[in-house]
Amino acid sequence: MHLRLLPLLLLCLFARCQTKTGMPNANQTRPAYALAIHGGAGTIRKAEMTPEEDAAYRAALDTALTIGESILRGGGSALDAVTATIVWLEDCPLFNAGRGAVFTHDGRNELDASIMDGSTQAAGAVGGVTSVKNPIRLARAVMEKSPHVLLTGRGAEQFALENGLDTVPPEWFFTQKRWDALQQILAGEKKNAPQGRFVPPNSGNPDTKFGTVGCVALDREGHLAAATSTGGMTNKRWNRLGDTPVIGAGTYASDDACAVSCTGHGEYFIRYAVAHDVWARMAYGGLSLREAADQVVMKKLVEKGGEGGLIAVDKDGNIALPFNSEGMYRGYARPGERKIMIYKAE
Ligand code: ASP
Repeated sequence: MHLRLLPLLLLCLFARCQTKTGMPNANQTRPAYALAIHGGAGTIRKAEMTPEEDAAYRAALDTALTIGESILRGGGSALDAVTATIVWLEDCPLFNAGRGAVFTHDGRNELDASIMDGSTQAAGAVGGVTSVKNPIRLARAVMEKSPHVLLTGRGAEQFALENGLDTVPPEWFFTQKRWDALQQILAGEKKNAPQGRFVPPNSGNPDTKFGTVGCVALDREGHLAAATSTGGMTNKRWNRLGDTPVIGAGTYASDDACAVSCTGHGEYFIRYAVAHDVWARMAYGGLSLREAADQVVMKKLVEKGGEGGLIAVDKDGNIALPFNSEGMYRGYARPGERKIMIYKAE
């Protein structure tokens, strides 16, 4: 081949690689930033939502996006953007995280959260905390101020106090809607096992609207981060932990490929290491973000019976938001682009 043609050939090859990882990043060059959020996946049907509820969720997602986006637009880090976005979603009573968390079988709120920095692969997580106002702040403190990755229960609460994090009384987390959901499930259990017979947990999905919150971001420096926070699943027992505080299951980030935050029936997401699996299919298998995320959520999880979804952003700013449930509260923003969606047909 004529040597003068070589640069042209290389250029074509480069452009082809870019297209393969593309979608839905329209301009194919890395955007200055990219941000995606979720507010949980589950049985979310348009027919069962009032226009007021629909509008309230969309407004909340919009505010959350604005918080993260303003940090990224100003040159802030992906880590700061996901932290601030999740803090706001935890304080918003509409979602199953922080205030508005679901109740355990014993009528308590036990909160889980995790965060991962794609540039260093440092990670922090907490499980089963009951008094920390913003579990995501605690997860970040675990990552930055302890030699550990995952703290649970009383020890995690003690670590929160030692690090000056805000604590609140249990009433802070209470919402009537979540309390009623627990009472409904307990009444059903009583009816099905009147003599106090054992009813296995998760024999069927105890909560039809999961409501966990998550955020993934790519910053101007090309760094990725992911964060997830939840109250878990209604009627959970025995200090059950789901996928949210498990790095690799509910949350994962690595600058070489992508950042992922999951929501759904946690037991499945743990068994199939869902967040890490998306990363692995990209890193080892050379798949695009969309291919990797779709294979895991729409094929593998569906085959296994694991309901839920995830949000992910890759190092080129592509975004994927697949879910196999009826709906997922979700949204994303890139320079000049913003979208908020709830139902499947959006
Ligand atoms: N994945 C969470 C859990 O199993 C629940 C959710 O996503 O809403 O704890």
